[in-house]
Amino acid sequence: MATYEYRCPRDGAFDATYPIGQAPTRARCATCSAEADRVFSAPLLNAMPHPLTAALDQAGRSAEAPEVVSRIPGRRRTPPTGPNRPSHPGHARLPRP
Ligand SMILES: [Zn+2]
Repeated sequence: MATYEYRCPRDGAFDATYPIGQAPTRARCATCSAEADRVFSAPLLNAMPHPLTAALDQAGRSAEAPEVVSRIPGRRRTPPTGPNRPSHPGHARLPRP
């Protein structure tokens, strides 16, 4: 069995299932019972979400030519400074320069 697409002039596109090679060129619309023409379209080429295809593409590229990194991504090399610097009570007892 395969799914075929038909387009009703009044209700738009709908799908119908027939054995492979036996789909009629016209089918009855389930909504208005009018004759609908068969439509040829690309078979599920856009069914996969973009983030998934991007992740699969990156996994494929990584298997062939892994990226070289000099540090762990997302980690800072230098400790933070300024007012957002985390403080520890023991730091006050350290000798000052
Ligand atoms: Zn219809």
